[in-house]
Amino acid sequence: MNGEKTKCKSCFKGKSGEAIWCEHCGGGYVNGEKTKCKSCFKGKSGEAIWCEHCGAGYVNGDKIKCKGCFNAQNGGAPCPEHKHEGHNHP
Ligand SMILES: [Zn+2]
Ligand SMILES: [Zn+2]
Ligand SMILES: [Zn+2]
Repeated sequence: MNGEKTKCKSCFKGKSGEAIWCEHCGGGYVNGEKTKCKSCFKGKSGEAIWCEHCGAGYVNGDKIKCKGCFNAQNGGAPCPEHKHEGHNHP
C-alpha cells in the first residue's frame, strides 16, 4: 500500500484550492500551490506584506522583489532605484 493520502484536513482544503495556512504541517496553500513561508503565504492570499526572509513582498497577491517598490506601492516614498517618472529632462 502506498499511503499518499492527505490526512490533514487543513492541507486537504488547501490542496483543493482554499487559501489556508496549516499550523500543524507548517505550510500554507494558495490556489492549490504550497508555500512554506508564512509571510509569503499571507502575501499570496492578498495581504500587503514584505517578507524579510525571502526578500520579496506582495501587494494584492502580486510578487514584488524590490523593497523600495513595495514601499512605494504601499503609500511610501517612490523607489529610489525604480522611479517611474515620465518626463525626466536633464
Ligand atoms: Zn496540514
Ligand atoms: Zn517568505
Ligand atoms: Zn524598486
